[in-house]
Amino acid sequence: MSQQDGARAGAQYSGLYVNAVGQRRAEFREACAELFGQLALAEGAAQAQALLDTAPVDLLVLDLERFELGLDLAALGALVAARAGAPVLVLCPFRNARWLPALMAFGPLDYAIGPLAPAQTRELLAARLARGFTPPAQPSARETQMQALLAAGAAAQRALSEADDSARFAERLVEALAAWPGVAHAALFYLRDGDVHVEAERGVDGLHLGPLLMRGGERLLHSPLRHAFPGLLAAATGEFALLDDLEKAGEPELAASLGAHGLRMAVGLPIPADGPGAPRGSLCLLFREAASLSRAQLAAFDELAALAAFGLRMAELTRENEALLARVTQLATLDALTGAANRRHGETLLENEIRRARRYRLPLALIGFDIDRFSNINDAYGHPVGDLALRAVAELARGLLRSSDVLVRAGGEEFLVIAPHTSAIDGLKMAEKLRAAIEQAEIPGCDHLTISLGVAQLGETESGDSLALRVNAALARAKRAGRNCVELAMQ
Ligand code: GH3
Ligand code: MG
Ligand code: MG
Repeated sequence: MSQQDGARAGAQYSGLYVNAVGQRRAEFREACAELFGQLALAEGAAQAQALLDTAPVDLLVLDLERFELGLDLAALGALVAARAGAPVLVLCPFRNARWLPALMAFGPLDYAIGPLAPAQTRELLAARLARGFTPPAQPSARETQMQALLAAGAAAQRALSEADDSARFAERLVEALAAWPGVAHAALFYLRDGDVHVEAERGVDGLHLGPLLMRGGERLLHSPLRHAFPGLLAAATGEFALLDDLEKAGEPELAASLGAHGLRMAVGLPIPADGPGAPRGSLCLLFREAASLSRAQLAAFDELAALAAFGLRMAELTRENEALLARVTQLATLDALTGAANRRHGETLLENEIRRARRYRLPLALIGFDIDRFSNINDAYGHPVGDLALRAVAELARGLLRSSDVLVRAGGEEFLVIAPHTSAIDGLKMAEKLRAAIEQAEIPGCDHLTISLGVAQLGETESGDSLALRVNAALARAKRAGRNCVELAMQ
């Protein structure tokens, strides 16, 4: 067909072209405007919808170049859904074909794969317009339902992107389920810490299944309704439960409370648990009408439950990983006997504090202390008592420190205190406070102990090693001076 023919054929039709890039819109207008009776241009879904609200068009052209699936799918999908079967032509870059199934879940569409030169786009449109548009056939109820199932299923799958956190995943999943055909309210029940919890629910305003099902008791798992309400039943027993009339459960009060929210039917889908430690729970869907469920719907339920199991397991794995990492970090950085930072970690912390002190021109003090005549304690009362004493000294010291100070077990019965924002004078005061407190404290198993201390303030260009050496020298002087005293380091 010649271009003129195409232009003539389409002149009666209106079109709307959507693309975010001004240059592309201009190119499209130049190449294709004369094919249409009227052509409008929009830079995004919001503008397109506003235009469609004022004047419906025969053909919606979505040019996906530069749109991003993660950001724009919901808005562009809503545009497709709002067409309700009216013609949509999607121009889809070949590298990004995953747009197609994602958008098709929202409604029927034609597509052409790009890149397309303006002349090619023109040719394509001319052919499309020449075919003409007949009013869309009304989709059958079954097709509409399948469409909605697909869209809700796709939304549920997207919830998996949040599966590093069970609460957020559950939120997203029930949000998708509440959009399921016929569903008025959706909830996820999660069996953990010995009880069933309503992890998330969405749909009917003011309906909170937790308190409603708890019946004033303390645990959902022990609620008398666990045999009557499908969501609880499925979570507690792992069985699929379907109550097409809430009255049938023999719990008139429950049926009345849910009935007051306009709810008639309830489905409980067990979240499959394979193997110990696997997540258990259920998805609960509440319907306003007692509809009979199609085979496709029942199959979709199974997939949903499997998806929920997968998402929750991923969230649990993430949580377990984080807990393990925290434990490993603790083992690697803390001294097991006293809970103080170990020597190696202390060195790292000191280097960090030195950098910070330099950057912000703040004073930094290091205090070293060593228990006096500690070998005598071990000799007199035994090593286990010595251990207890060490722990008690560390605890006492920690209790006196500010939250920004760090206690380090430097080795044996020697400790360091890294004291940020602290000058030599303040460091001396702090050391004296420590000395007096330990002298006065009652140490389990061996009555009293004393410590000797050395204090130094970080010099302007001084390294951590040099600071530690000066502190040790001051500490040695304190020992020579008779112990149970504080010495300030030489510059
Ligand atoms: P001073 O420091 O006053 O010179 O005398 P001291 O007896 O404390 O000095 P020394 O450094 O000779 O002895 C330290 C003792 O600390 C020796 C060691 O058995 C004991 N020690 C070191 N680490 C531990 C520990 O983890 N538990 C126990 N119970 N004792 C420890
Ligand atoms: Mg000692
Ligand atoms: Mg020592």
